[in-house]
Amino acid sequence: MKKTYAVTLIPGDGIGPELVETVKRVIEGTGVRINWETVDAGEDAIAKHGTPLPDSALESVKKNKVALKGPITTPIGTGFRSVNVALRKSLNLYACLRPCKSYPGVKSHFPAIDLVIVRENTEDLYAGVEYLNSSAGAQEIIKMSQGKINPDANISIKPISRTATEKIAKFAFEFAVKNGRKKVTSVSKANIMKFTDGLFYEVCRETAKKYPKIQYEERLVDNMCMQLVQKPELYDVLVLPNLYGDIISDLCAGLVGGLGVAPGANFGDDCALFEAVHGSAPKYKGMNKTNPTALLLSAKMMLSHIGETEVANRLEEAITRVIKEGKQTTYDLGGNAGTREMGDVILKKFHSLS
Ligand code: NAD
Repeated sequence: MKKTYAVTLIPGDGIGPELVETVKRVIEGTGVRINWETVDAGEDAIAKHGTPLPDSALESVKKNKVALKGPITTPIGTGFRSVNVALRKSLNLYACLRPCKSYPGVKSHFPAIDLVIVRENTEDLYAGVEYLNSSAGAQEIIKMSQGKINPDANISIKPISRTATEKIAKFAFEFAVKNGRKKVTSVSKANIMKFTDGLFYEVCRETAKKYPKIQYEERLVDNMCMQLVQKPELYDVLVLPNLYGDIISDLCAGLVGGLGVAPGANFGDDCALFEAVHGSAPKYKGMNKTNPTALLLSAKMMLSHIGETEVANRLEEAITRVIKEGKQTTYDLGGNAGTREMGDVILKKFHSLS
């Protein structure tokens, strides 16, 4: 009997529900049996549950250990800086994986990019430790800085710990080994932030020694940006602290043709959550217009993760061919197909590859 997998489904906000619906239909069409447990999170959850991140959503992911998620709008005035950040923190999804690959047919100046971004997900300036100038915390820090900080500054704290860096560095090297990758580049700004980014390099260097078959190198983040827009094909796996990882992932998504084709996944020791890099694009909500590729490629990563590797690879091949043929793609890829229609064409292509 075919195995049935239990997966939490978070439709999210804006274009999320229509993308999730299309992706769900494609996955079901591949023959993989999934028992989807749909849960609320995001703007619409506020009216129903009084919070954009109900415990029921977290409990479902903890139970099923795998989730597929549409984008969630960051609501203003709820006490949540970002529901997405809160979700990753609550589930300790410490590693964010974002493959950036050139697909023939997507308009881009770089036809040969195949790199993977491994972003630390739990600390750095994203930790959300901030002090208003009027607070006792800010005043204390200003005093301790002995004139280095202007007296009228608001302050954000940037924690980088050995523990979290060890986990993300190990994740990056293990990923490289398991996926036949050759090189890991650690990205930081350790010449200026000697203690925090310095520690990030130090731990990555120590970790690299345990993986002698993987080449290791370091790049300062400013130089990395320049290198990526000049010769991105030289890079393989990049490992970065949270903020640089966020910025460089959008830069790399731009290099390979935009947010419509940029997938992602978040991993912890127990759970994995798969989502596109893009947000909820509210202006396109309900228009059946946006590209399902980014979420479909995220679902492809999910299929690999649960062990359905053959289906995952065939699905990626179907997506690649549909994009290359360029006839039935969404607006951002130069076509005029809708979200649903592009999903249907991909599924048809999938079956033609059987
Ligand atoms: P966005 O990614 O939602 O949209 C920016 C633009 O990118 C869109 O206007 C559209 O032109 C294009 N785009 C995005 N997805 C596309 C797709 N699938 N196909 C074709 N084109 C696409 O970014 P934003 O407008 O800055 O953010 C909107 C909301 O989403 C905000 O509330 C933000 O906080 C949230 N957000 C959520 C996530 C997440 O859930 N992981 C990620 C980023 C942003």
